[in-house]
Amino acid sequence: SEEKSLNFIEEIVEEDLRTGKHGGRVLTRFPPEPNGYLHIGHAKSICLNFGLAQQYNGKTNLRFDDTNPVTEDTEYVESIKKDIQWLGFQWAEELYTSDYFETLYGYAVELIKKGLAYVDDSTAEEIAAAKGTPTEPGIPTPYRDRSITENLDLFADMRAGKYKDGEKVLRAKIDLASPNMHLRDPLLYRIKHAHHHRTGNQWCIYPMYDFAHGQSDSIEKITHSICTLEFIPHRPLYDWCIEKLEIFPSKQYEFARLNMTYTVMSKRKLLQLVNDKFVESWDDPRMPTISGLRRRGYTPASIRNFCDKIGVQKRENMIDVSLLEFCIREDLNKTAWRRMAVLDPIKLVITNYPDGQVENLVGENNPEVEGGEGHRIIPFSKELWIEREDFMEDAPKKFFRLGPGLSVRLKHAYIVTCNDFVKDENGKVTEVHCTYVPNSKSGEDTSGLKVKGTIHWISVPHAKEAEVRLYDRLFNDENPAAAENFKESINPASLHVVERAYIEPDLANATPGKGYQFIRLGYFTLDTHSTPAHLVFNRTVTLKDSWGK
Ligand code: ATP
Ligand code: MG
Ligand code: MG
Repeated sequence: SEEKSLNFIEEIVEEDLRTGKHGGRVLTRFPPEPNGYLHIGHAKSICLNFGLAQQYNGKTNLRFDDTNPVTEDTEYVESIKKDIQWLGFQWAEELYTSDYFETLYGYAVELIKKGLAYVDDSTAEEIAAAKGTPTEPGIPTPYRDRSITENLDLFADMRAGKYKDGEKVLRAKIDLASPNMHLRDPLLYRIKHAHHHRTGNQWCIYPMYDFAHGQSDSIEKITHSICTLEFIPHRPLYDWCIEKLEIFPSKQYEFARLNMTYTVMSKRKLLQLVNDKFVESWDDPRMPTISGLRRRGYTPASIRNFCDKIGVQKRENMIDVSLLEFCIREDLNKTAWRRMAVLDPIKLVITNYPDGQVENLVGENNPEVEGGEGHRIIPFSKELWIEREDFMEDAPKKFFRLGPGLSVRLKHAYIVTCNDFVKDENGKVTEVHCTYVPNSKSGEDTSGLKVKGTIHWISVPHAKEAEVRLYDRLFNDENPAAAENFKESINPASLHVVERAYIEPDLANATPGKGYQFIRLGYFTLDTHSTPAHLVFNRTVTLKDSWGK
C-alpha cells in the first residue's frame, strides 16, 4: 500500500540504502529456536523480516538457533519450515547456529587470547551473588585474573569433556561495575553433556544466546538483525562482541512483540497446554500456533493482513484478538463457498408436497464474485431438517422464523407456513408441519408474498452426517499470561462438539484447506483428521452478524 507511511524499521533500511551502507544490500534473518511450534507472534516477525527483504529486493535467511540441545528437536525444525512456506515465504538459505560451533569456539579462543574472556569455576549461585545489583557494582570472583595460557588450557579441557555440567563456565571480561547488568562479565559458554539433534555428542560445551546470536548474524553478513524489545539491554553486548572480534558489523534493531488478548504466546506455556492435555496437540485449532490456525481454517492471506494491520511498534502493546478474527472473516467472506448445514436438527414436514418427489435446486458457490464460481445441486424434498432454534411454539412478535401461523423462506427454495407441530411424551417438539407455496420458488417467485426471514435446511433423505467442532476462546481472562498461574483462566467450554450434524450432500466433496460458509452459522473448514467415512468440520469463526449472539 503506497499511501502508508513507513514504519521505523523501513525508515532505517531506506536510510541505509540512501547512504550506501552494506552496498545497498538488505539481508535479514528469521532465527527460531527449534523448541516448539511457531505461533502468531512468530508470524509477525516472519512477515516483518521476509516482508522487508521483499520490499527492498533483499533476502532472508532461515536460521535455526539451536544452541540448547536439551529442548530442541527435528520435529520442530520440520514444522517451522512448513509453517513459513505455508505463510507464503521462502528463505534464501537454511542455516543452523550449530553449524557455526567450530567458528564460535574459535571466536571464544580469540577473546581469551585478547585477555577478554576467562574460565570461571564459581557456581551459578556464586556468580549471581558476585554480580552485584543495578545500584551496586559486582565483585570479581577468584578466577577473574587467570592468565591467558591457563584460560586457554582450561577452555580446551572444557571442550574435551574433562568437567561435569556446571563445573566451569567461560565468561567475557568486560566491566563488573557497568550499569548494564548484561555487561558484568556475561557467560559465553557453559558445559552441557547432552545429545544435540544435529551435532550429536560432538560437543559438551554450548555457546550462550548472547555469544551465538550476534556472531551468527555477522558470519552470515546480516544487515538488519531484528528482534523483540527485551533484547535492547543485550545490544551493547552484541556490539561489544562484534567490535572486539573485528567481524562483520551486523546491527540489531528491536520492535514490540505481539501480545494478543485471551492468548498466551510463549512456547514454554503452549508446550504446557499440550503436555497437560488442555489441548489435543500443538495444532489443536484453539492454539495460537500457525499450525493450529491453519487447522482452524485461517488462511495465509488473513494472517499476513493481520500482521500488516498491526504494524511495527517500538512500545509494548496488546492487540485485540477480534482483529485477527476480523481479518479471517474479511478473507473468507470473499473466498468461502456457501453451503448449508443443520447443527441441532428438528424435522420439518411439508404436508402439501408430493411424497417421493425430489427437486434439484441450484445454489451459487460464491455470491461475492461475478459468476459465483459455479454452483452446486441442493436436493429438496418433503421432509427437511431445520435448526431447532428456528421454531418457537409461542413465538414473540419479532420472531421472523417459524411458529404456528408464521411463514419463512427456505433458502434457495420455497416459502412455507407453519400450521402444526408434534410433541413427544416429554413435551419436546419433534416435528414442525408446514405447507409450501408452489409458485414462490427462489428466482421464479410469482406469489407476491413477502416474508421477513430466511432459514437454512437439509433434505432428510439426502442429508450427510458430520461431526462439527465449535470453538470458543481458550482463556476467559483477557490477559492470561499476566496471571500467576495462566492455566487457572482456561475456559472449560472452549470446545463444543456436535456429534451428528446434517450437511448438504455436496459437502462430502469438501476440499481440505478450503473455507466454507455454513449459511447463518459461520465459516468452517474440513479438519485434518476428517475421513470420507467420518467427516469432521471445524468452525473457523462465527459470522460477524451472528444471529446466535
Ligand atoms: P517464545 O517466548 O514464544 O519461545 P522466542 O522469542 O523464545 O519466543 P524464538 O524461536 O527465539 O522464540 O523466536 C524466533 C523469532 O521470533 C525471534 O526473532 C523472536 O523475536 C520472534 N518472536 C517470538 N515471539 C514473538 C512475538 N510474540 N511477537 C513478535 N516476534 C516474536
Ligand atoms: Mg529466542
Ligand atoms: Mg523462548
